[in-house]
Order: sequence, then structure tokens, then C-alpha cells
Amino acid sequence: MFVIGPAGSGKTLLTSTLTSWLKLSGVDVITVNLDPGAVVLPYTPDVDVRDYVRVEDLMRERMLGPNGAMILACDMLSDYADDIRGEVEAVEPDMVVVDTPGQMELFAFRDVGPYMVEELGGDKTAVLYIFDALFSKNPLNYVMSVFLAAAVHNRFLVPQVHALNKVDLLSREELETQLRWSMNPDELHEDLGRTLAGMGRVMSENIIQAVMSLGVEFSPVPVSAKTADGLVDLYAELERALGVVE
Ligand code: GDP
Repeated sequence: MFVIGPAGSGKTLLTSTLTSWLKLSGVDVITVNLDPGAVVLPYTPDVDVRDYVRVEDLMRERMLGPNGAMILACDMLSDYADDIRGEVEAVEPDMVVVDTPGQMELFAFRDVGPYMVEELGGDKTAVLYIFDALFSKNPLNYVMSVFLAAAVHNRFLVPQVHALNKVDLLSREELETQLRWSMNPDELHEDLGRTLAGMGRVMSENIIQAVMSLGVEFSPVPVSAKTADGLVDLYAELERALGVVE
């Protein structure tokens, strides 16, 4: 299961919280850190790409700035796919949760992302895509979040489960609004109409229509990586996506 989402959406914290919860529930799970730029992690990865490539080493050795080193480090992940797969296979876990690089575009929108998912994914592979609920509080940002989720799905073409993370930071009303938007695009259109005018409104409505026409199911599961709320429902969705249960 590959955890993917925009920078700061909570990939690393959710990897940590979900894995701890799975272990407590008796699931035989391990974590893989695929972020070569991670400095401190809230979990101890069982397999860590930083044993092979580190952003800070590339900055020093190749005289690169942080962005250049991060791009190079992410592209270099594919050189170590065999080693990482070997480490995972040596443990033979039932489930592997893979935390991906902080900057989503360097993984999902470059060749390395689909390559790693192909190389590391087994016959049951899913993407856990994270929406940042705080970011998607207004309808325009919500549209952008859905658009990014659709773009990621288009890159990987594996079952994708959507988590609406950080719900502990939303009021009940704010949460209900986002859930209504996910269930009923007409309400999203109405709220877009109320908050946007002119080109912005037309473009957002067209984006939503294009995304809906792809037939991708976006019913995000509300969760909090901080409080562990919603993990039961999230795991049920993941099991369905992975084909573990019907
Ligand atoms: P990543 O860049 O997607 O891996 O995001 P991180 O896991 O590093 O999280 C970014 C920030 O958001 C950190 O300060 C986390 O503590 C915080 N964060 C992540 N998930 C939650 C959540 O569910 N609730 C709250 N309140 N904060 C969160």
C-alpha cells in the first residue's frame, strides 16, 4: 500500500499511526520509507531508502542545492528497487505500508513513481491517497484536491482509497460540507457558484466535470493521523481495494 498525497497532507504521520494501529489489531505489517529527504520520522521504518540514498549526502557530494538534490535522490530510487524488494521479501509480511517522498510531484508525476509501484507492488497493490482536509475546506481548493487525486490515479492505475486527513482540525459543519461535496457534485457546483465568479468558476466546474467523467470513485474516508479517528473505516476500505474482502 503506497501512501501518496501533497506535501504536508500527513503521509508520514498516517503511515505511523495506521501501522501502529494495524500492529495492535494483529496485522503482520511492515513500513518502508521511500523518502530520501526525511530527517526525523515518527516511526522506525523496517526498510529505509536512506540506507541507500540521502538528500544531504547528494548536496555535499555533488554540490547541489536542496531542490536539485531532492529531484536527483527521488530519480535514484529506481536504482535501489531490487535491494528494497529484497529486504521486504526477506521479512515476508502480510502487508507493507510504503511512505513516499514528501513532495508528491517528484514521485507521482515522474517516471520513478509508477516504476517503484510496479517493482515493489505485489499482486495486491493499492494507493492510499491523502486529502488535506484543512486545505480543501473551501470549494476551489476541494476541486484542486480532487483533480490531483485523479491525476495520481491516472499515473498508477491501481485501486485507490482516499483518506480525508486532519479532520480533528475541522468543525463538524466543515467536515459535513466536504463529505456532501464528495457525495453530491451538484452541491459542489452550487457552492463554487457562490464563492467564485467568471473564469475561475467556469474552469473549476469544467475540472470537476472532467474528473467525474473519468468514473473514479471519490468518497474519502474521514481520518485523523493525529488522534487515530477513522482508522477502522479506512482499513475496511483498504481491504476492499486490496481485494482481501468483497
Ligand atoms: P507529509 O509531508 O505528507 O508526510 O506530512 P506529515 O506527516 O509530515 O505531516 C505534516 C504536518 O501535519 C505535521 O506537522 C503533522 O504533525 C501534521 N499532521 C498530519 N496529520 C495530521 C492530523 O491528522 N491532524 C493534525 N492536527 N495534524 C496532522
